[in-house]
Amino acid sequence: ENLQVNKLTVIEAYRVLEAEGLIHARQGSGYFVSSIATSRITLRSTFAPVQEVTIAQGDGSFLEQFTASLHAQHQGNIIDFSSGFPSSFRIEELQRVAKRSLSHAADLLFRYDFPQGQLLLRQQIAQLLLQQGLEVSPEELIVTHGSEQALSLALRYYLQPEDWVIVETPTYHGVLGILKNLGAKVIGIPMTVTGMNLELLEQYLHSYHPKLIYTISTLHNPTGITTSQTHRQQLLALAEQYECLILEDNAYEGLNFEPVPAPIKALDCHDLVTYISTFSKTLMPGLRVGYMVVTGKHYQPLVEQKLLNDLHVSTVSQAIASEFLASGLYRRHLGRLRTTHLQSRNAMLQALEHHFPEAIAWTIPKGGLFLWTHLPNHIPIQTICREALSQNVLVANGAAFFPSKGYPAMRLNFSHTLEAIEQGISILGKLLKKHSIS
Ligand code: PMP
Repeated sequence: ENLQVNKLTVIEAYRVLEAEGLIHARQGSGYFVSSIATSRITLRSTFAPVQEVTIAQGDGSFLEQFTASLHAQHQGNIIDFSSGFPSSFRIEELQRVAKRSLSHAADLLFRYDFPQGQLLLRQQIAQLLLQQGLEVSPEELIVTHGSEQALSLALRYYLQPEDWVIVETPTYHGVLGILKNLGAKVIGIPMTVTGMNLELLEQYLHSYHPKLIYTISTLHNPTGITTSQTHRQQLLALAEQYECLILEDNAYEGLNFEPVPAPIKALDCHDLVTYISTFSKTLMPGLRVGYMVVTGKHYQPLVEQKLLNDLHVSTVSQAIASEFLASGLYRRHLGRLRTTHLQSRNAMLQALEHHFPEAIAWTIPKGGLFLWTHLPNHIPIQTICREALSQNVLVANGAAFFPSKGYPAMRLNFSHTLEAIEQGISILGKLLKKHSIS
């Protein structure tokens, strides 16, 4: 009786539930229980953040890792939890779209094009971004050969050798490779369930004056974590205070099956944030169409860099992407992907719960392709990856995603059939148990 709960305690409880993916907020309507909470999955501790900052010179092993997983994929008959693309594309649709796009855009195909990309495609991308809560003009967009080229152009343009750069740890290994190449010095700030550790970030902004922060704010690769709205505001405020640029990589844009906050770029009033994304994860990596949003004085120099690099993105690829968007197929395809990915994520969570030993923690992503499993320190991750491959299961060794020594972890792509998930996770579970006991 007469027991009163402090309102702040309730708000905090909601915040924690939201961070764990159990509930989500809908603007104007309140909180809703998320799909994951209504299924029978008992949640194990979701993510055990490691508070150690790492300082390194990037990592040069991207080529090795990139090609190693390609070789394994070419063997066929493999359950591939390691790759970074969705698995449910319909070839007939691509054939129809490609045929139509070649006739619609015929007049554009036989000549060179603008370095920033076709106007129609940039207008369509601007529309897409508006749906993500980011308002930009087509004159602030540059179409690139995948987002990897956008990353490379931006980092080359903004950084000088020896500059300090902040990345999340773990982070996308393709960026570590570029940073190594540029001779940049890397500070790895650990991820928490709501985004990179801001206290540590502030300490390092204060003492190292880095030039740039690289963040994968939504459906982070490799952890699947989405940086919360409050965290985004604080991150931007810190960048403003310390006059540091932000490179916001949103490669998994549109693949969320639960609401996610608008990009940090949408909050940026001082042209500090360069935003990049891609059609690789929603359509196909082979199309090589990505894009960057650059506002203010950096736009023209970056268009020039694009021109000097490779003139422009293939007009054939641009025409196909454009036709996908114009025909409404893109929207439908995305809807299908979200539905199947939600089912496969839930299936993977259930399989992990069932097959993995107690001591292992994992993240619960709101979309994208990956979840991240965090293993105890004594687990020989290299051996487990090798033995899994000998049983036709390919996983990404977490070590690749750290600029220097990290903790044992695996990145798992959950966009697979329910049977493949059950079979693959059961094999991994057995290996983990074998090595946990011995
Ligand atoms: N950024 C992130 C976070 C990625 O995961 C990837 C691909 N795995 C890329 C960029 C590059 O992708 P693409 O060049 O195909 O757009």
